[in-house]
Amino acid sequence: MIYLDNNATTQPLPEVIEAVGDALQRFSGNPSSPHSAGVAARRALESARDVVSHGFGADDWGDVMFTSCGTESINTAFSLFLTRDIAQVIVSTAEHSAVLRAADRWRDLRPLRHVPVSSDGVLDLDKLAEHVAASPSFVSLVLANNETGVIAEIAAAGEICRRFGAILHVDAVQAAGKMAFSLAALDCDAASLSAHKFHGPRGCGVLFVRRRGSRFAVGRPLLSGHQENGLRGGTENLPAIVGAAVAVESFCELHGITQRIAALRDGLETQLLRAIAGSEVHGARANRLPNTISFFCPYRDSAEMVRRLDQAGVAASAGAACSTGGAPSHVIQAMGLSAERASCTIRFSLSRFTTTADVTAAARIVADAYHSALTLPRCA
Ligand code: PLP
Repeated sequence: MIYLDNNATTQPLPEVIEAVGDALQRFSGNPSSPHSAGVAARRALESARDVVSHGFGADDWGDVMFTSCGTESINTAFSLFLTRDIAQVIVSTAEHSAVLRAADRWRDLRPLRHVPVSSDGVLDLDKLAEHVAASPSFVSLVLANNETGVIAEIAAAGEICRRFGAILHVDAVQAAGKMAFSLAALDCDAASLSAHKFHGPRGCGVLFVRRRGSRFAVGRPLLSGHQENGLRGGTENLPAIVGAAVAVESFCELHGITQRIAALRDGLETQLLRAIAGSEVHGARANRLPNTISFFCPYRDSAEMVRRLDQAGVAASAGAACSTGGAPSHVIQAMGLSAERASCTIRFSLSRFTTTADVTAAARIVADAYHSALTLPRCA
């Protein structure tokens, strides 16, 4: 199988698998227990926290809290920051469904405003400024879009939020491990991650929460309990957390890895665009993740294409993994493109395990699938 669905989930690194197995065996105690087994588990937990904090440039930030996944981190951020002082919630139209649904849950209590993106998927910073100027806001923005890979100008968005006293949460789930960034450099108040997106194990999310004076007011945790500094209750998933820290340690090689992936991505794009007349890459002119291709395949239903590709040995996606319900991508439509066009879009996402041979074979298989699939008359 040529696995080109790394924005859905990634293969854990061999050293991660080993560390998770080792932690399962070694740390039998609960990190909250006072006996020596508990103390050893607590030590491993805190050491993993230091590694993750350091890996994302958050050493002097505030709380680094472990959750079960990106979705939980995002919902926790909403829950913690939506205090009485916040009058409105602001998200972009191209957010992941985890953010859109979290925002929807609070809609009855506070108005929800949307910031549009351009036809290249780029955030409209003027509209963001207009919205945050209106009243005290909680803003949640995606750093790197999961479908197109388009990278938002988060530092500029952070500067706008700070100017108007708005709280900024960054959904960095897709960015982590696919581009280098430091939370210290992003002017945000919170950020969410998910280890399974960067070759760590499933079952470990991270939420960074910055403490900066009056801007930090704790609302209600999503899960009550004494763990994680009282911000996330429940016994920590220590083996997954230890594995996540090992995955973060591999980031020291990230620059070389991302350069190699970008070259493979460019090669795949060139071959696909050449093989399929009228095809296009969404967000091609924008600053993008090095691994992601949102590929418009004219007159072909993407669900049908993904099925054919799977049969031929290529794993790809018709959009976000979480939206396999069949609805055309809201991200592509947010870029001003039609529902028909969104239905003809396939996402290919590469990883450090992708090879040149994979790319050559995948391009041929996609071209074959395209030429043998039925034509959709209305899709343009
Ligand atoms: N945010 C983005 C941008 C994502 O791509 C995803 C998952 O695809 C999530 C949030 C949710 O993360 P998780 O699957 O760990 O809950």
